[in-house]
Amino acid sequence: MKVTINRGACIDCGVCYADCPDVFEEDNADSTSQIVEAYRIGGDPAVGQVPDALAKCVRSAADGCPVEAIRVEE
Ligand code: SF4
Repeated sequence: MKVTINRGACIDCGVCYADCPDVFEEDNADSTSQIVEAYRIGGDPAVGQVPDALAKCVRSAADGCPVEAIRVEE
């Protein structure tokens, strides 16, 4: 699945990287969420291609994001 984080909307609440740390992490440089390096598309910290085995936790993170900053595409 493809995952996109609207980093401009992220309020760094920590829900996504608490729920799904295999995919999301905090970017300490600007205090927003980012995709972990292993799953980034073209090195972009806001866009990732994630294996199906992690789909459940990605959806949980997206559902839990209070500002709906995480978009998931199958
Ligand atoms: S859950 Fe949403 S607002 Fe919270 S850190 Fe993740 S992307 Fe940012």
